[in-house]
Amino acid sequence: MGIRGQLREVEDQLIKDLKETTVPSQQLAKKYGVSKQAIFNFIHRKGITRPKKQEPEHTEKKCLICQSLLRIARKPHSDFICYQTLREQLGLQRTELSSHLSLLRNKKLVPQKFGRLFSKRAELAYRIYFERRLPVRTIGRQVGFKNFYSVIQRHKASGWDVPPPHFKYYGTERRSWLKKRRKKQ
Ligand SMILES: [Zn+2]
Repeated sequence: MGIRGQLREVEDQLIKDLKETTVPSQQLAKKYGVSKQAIFNFIHRKGITRPKKQEPEHTEKKCLICQSLLRIARKPHSDFICYQTLREQLGLQRTELSSHLSLLRNKKLVPQKFGRLFSKRAELAYRIYFERRLPVRTIGRQVGFKNFYSVIQRHKASGWDVPPPHFKYYGTERRSWLKKRRKKQ
């Protein structure tokens, strides 16, 4: 094998290194005893696309976003925190959050409805609903829902576990409430 053959062999090996490994050009330059620029020129001349360096695999244990989400999810009624609030609390851009959320949901580490609420108004209404003994209608009026009751029903139907209200309708209050409800239906 003459010098030509040897060069060809080296070239083939370099092409292989470039195409199949993510070894940095600088390191390859050292290995082949040429300049970094020569490697760049070679890549360009041969039209080689180098494979992308693989990102380290995402795990919720090492991911700060996931860890924060898990911490929030442990709080009571966490599936009534809306997506925007989670995003704001974590200081994230619009699309950044969803992949972490779906990963955690798929692994069943957070409730299936965690991060699925998209209305700030509903979030506020539910916060009042959980914290104060107020009729559903009053809460609705406070936050600007025409019919908070139907919002609750809709959420229940789509899988949210909405606990019964703190407020109990007794006696005349209950009767007039039922009458109003019957009228509406
Ligand atoms: Zn994550």
